[in-house]
Amino acid sequence: MSKDKCICTFSQRMTGDGCRYCNPQEYIDVLHERIEEDEKGKPSGTEAQVCEDIARRQQFGLHKYGTTVAQNPLELRQWLKHAYEEALDQAIYLRRAMAEIDAITGHDELADMVRAGKGAQA
Ligand SMILES: [Zn+2]
Repeated sequence: MSKDKCICTFSQRMTGDGCRYCNPQEYIDVLHERIEEDEKGKPSGTEAQVCEDIARRQQFGLHKYGTTVAQNPLELRQWLKHAYEEALDQAIYLRRAMAEIDAITGHDELADMVRAGKGAQA
């Protein structure tokens, strides 16, 4: 290990963030393993996007309601009512989006129902 090739700052060396010249490779390998361990538990892809959306919703909620969900004193029945109403909204949004796709693709919902009915009788 030759420290003469190192261009790290003193603090980089002290915190162990230094390069291969000022830190033994074994130590750098351990750091890489730790980073990989941390990354393993983290979601990726779509799940990571959902986590980002949740974080954004939390910030939005904090500004709108001035409290976190955990600290919000609503009663259990009120939480269920909120969830139920949002499920109703979701069904409406899904149906609306499907209608738009059906209009573009010429999809025939009634024909599907007839086919499904015939399949059930067989
Ligand atoms: Zn260095």
